[in-house]
Amino acid sequence: MLDKQHQLEMVPSADGIYGPVDALQESLSEQTALLTLSHTVFKSGYLYDMASLTAAAHAVGSLVLWDLSHSVGAVPVDLHAANADLAIGCTYKYLNGGPGAPAFLYVRRDLQEKLLNPLSGWMGQHNLFDFALEYQPAAGLRRFLTGTPPMMSLALIEPGVELLLEAGIDNLRAKSLQQSDYLIQLWQSELAPHGFTLKTPAEDHLRGSHVSLGHPEGLRIDLALINDMQVLPDFRAPDNIRLGITPLYTTYRDIYQTVIRLKAIVTERLYEKYSTDAPIVT
Ligand SMILES: *Cc1c(COP(=O)(O)O)cnc(C)c1O
Repeated sequence: MLDKQHQLEMVPSADGIYGPVDALQESLSEQTALLTLSHTVFKSGYLYDMASLTAAAHAVGSLVLWDLSHSVGAVPVDLHAANADLAIGCTYKYLNGGPGAPAFLYVRRDLQEKLLNPLSGWMGQHNLFDFALEYQPAAGLRRFLTGTPPMMSLALIEPGVELLLEAGIDNLRAKSLQQSDYLIQLWQSELAPHGFTLKTPAEDHLRGSHVSLGHPEGLRIDLALINDMQVLPDFRAPDNIRLGITPLYTTYRDIYQTVIRLKAIVTERLYEKYSTDAPIVT
């Protein structure tokens, strides 16, 4: 439970691209209860080494929680091999569940009896239909349920996950890296001369499945791409245009055309008709 004695310490990335691995390791101490990281960083796409950071946290007696939202379905994740404690994630990115699809939770088996769900509800109760006043958590993973699971939304995830399993995560990773390499090469030849910067690690093993490009007119370029060019990126302040590569169905042609359209938006100044006011969701 979070009480007054607990403090939240943030370890920033020096360049906004690479994860601050050395600084993280230095900040770990016997005082650390939990290290929490996005496995694939949502802004730059930097990919942490799950096994080594988990081991570093365990060495000082800390638990680790991995957010897999930008990894699951795009990057191989082996929670068992890394001896990870806890993981969470969403199913609406590379698992194709669509906005509002349910989240997921992983709790290593030996921790399931030791941890409690702070949002206790009847579905996590030992005897579901007891309706006793005394709350008794169920044994095992069920104690982390709160209310009735959203059955329709869960059912909709299944076909997307089945397609991923059929394709095979290693095949998808190989294609994703080829595609992000291709995008980075095109950035270098076509976009860098027009003021675009690369805000994602160029090294394959340090990258998830999206590529972020920076540009001082990033927001308005993003809006032009969405409204005039039939390409859907997203935007993160101050200047980050995120291009997600979903290897299951993104084609090389999609990537090429995106780059050519980005270039046209800048060289033909197509972004100038858009306002610099940011919409709520991009
Ligand atoms: C998308 C995402 C989530 C999912 O959050 P929801 O509340 O389910 O929308 C969580 N963490 C990160 C880093 C994400 O990118």
